[in-house]
Amino acid sequence: MNARGVAILGSTGSIGTTALRVLERQRERFRVVALTAFTNGALLAEQAERFAPAFVGLVRSGEAVAAHESWGCGEQCLVEAATRGGVDIVLNAVVGAAGLDATIAALEHGRRVALANKESLVMGGDLVRAAARRGGGELVPVDSEHSAILQCIAGRPTTEVRRLVLTASGGPFRRWTREQIDRATLADALQHPTWQMGRKITVDSATLANKALEVIEAHFLFDVPYDRIEVVVHPQSVVHSFVEFVDGSVLAQLGVPSMELPVLYALTFPDRVSDTGVPPFDPVELSPLTFEPVRRDDFPALSLGVQAGRAGGAAPAVFNAANETAVALFLDGAIRFGDIPRAIESALGRHGGADGGSREAILSADALARRHVQELF
Ligand code: NAD
Ligand code: MG
Repeated sequence: MNARGVAILGSTGSIGTTALRVLERQRERFRVVALTAFTNGALLAEQAERFAPAFVGLVRSGEAVAAHESWGCGEQCLVEAATRGGVDIVLNAVVGAAGLDATIAALEHGRRVALANKESLVMGGDLVRAAARRGGGELVPVDSEHSAILQCIAGRPTTEVRRLVLTASGGPFRRWTREQIDRATLADALQHPTWQMGRKITVDSATLANKALEVIEAHFLFDVPYDRIEVVVHPQSVVHSFVEFVDGSVLAQLGVPSMELPVLYALTFPDRVSDTGVPPFDPVELSPLTFEPVRRDDFPALSLGVQAGRAGGAAPAVFNAANETAVALFLDGAIRFGDIPRAIESALGRHGGADGGSREAILSADALARRHVQELF
């Protein structure tokens, strides 16, 4: 069997390093052909040493690149890695809007995109789907909820699906009062109860903006309208999502909370291969599994994002850009936690109606939303 070539964009991050742990065990099936990172040249060099990829790219070069003359650099190294020869699968594990062009380029080149970078699909859902149609590429989700849905749908047509129910851990503030949430500190927001992730998605999980991004992601991945996508809080993060079919039967996919499983599945889909990444499943140990409604009024980012999804056009891109900018400000200590949804609402009010018909229109709406949020504070 020929090993399939994998490019990992964002190999130094939480998903990137998780993927390399998986690939280390699956060296007979996959070989690492390209690795990219943003600034962490030291870790990237270690990874390059271990996996000997044909291409290595560091976006923000500096001293690290001087020492490695063969490395690619600059923003274009993502597209370069995604489209080079020998790459069958592009794992897009970059955080944020920076992943958009590589997702589109990989799909246009007929590649499979194992998509962790949900932001690219949220910003440019129609463009991304059009790129896949044009180039024959394939989008396979890495997000655990969407991986669960893919596994439950198992090739059945969308007409047989009544409802998708995404599970949400509820984040660290599930039980906090609205006043407490408003004043939450960065340290509070970074204490995720069930998942170890990068800082941006950890904050998104605390505001529930992450779940809004995921509702939009599910809409574009599975072609299900927004009024048939729901969210339920499930603090244990063991049931990764539900699919209700038209006959009333409900399937769910379960597993201990580990991203190794959905990463591997995105690489091998629709096949399953033997692997030892997650501990054995013990339902008694994982009990009880509980479910509760989302406190939508206290976590307004969720409804704001879903409304943006329904509005379409550039509204999801504005939601995403406003959120990214506000989260960056919060991570810098410049704004309060409660300012994140306030900034999103303000940006959507001002720019939510922008045109989203082309890459340029989307990038322009993204830039307007970023500037709007910067100027609010
Ligand atoms: P992270 O911050 O740990 O890693 C991000 C990676 O992207 C790093 O390798 C970094 O070098 C690179 N990067 C950052 N900014 C970049 C830029 N401007 N240009 C190019 N490269 C850049 O983030 P993460 O937690 O691994 O999340 C990555 C993506 O996966 C996000 O879209 C996130 O929503 C999604 N995701 C993550 C998890 C998880 O468990 N961590 C789960 C589901 C989905
Ligand atoms: Mg998720």
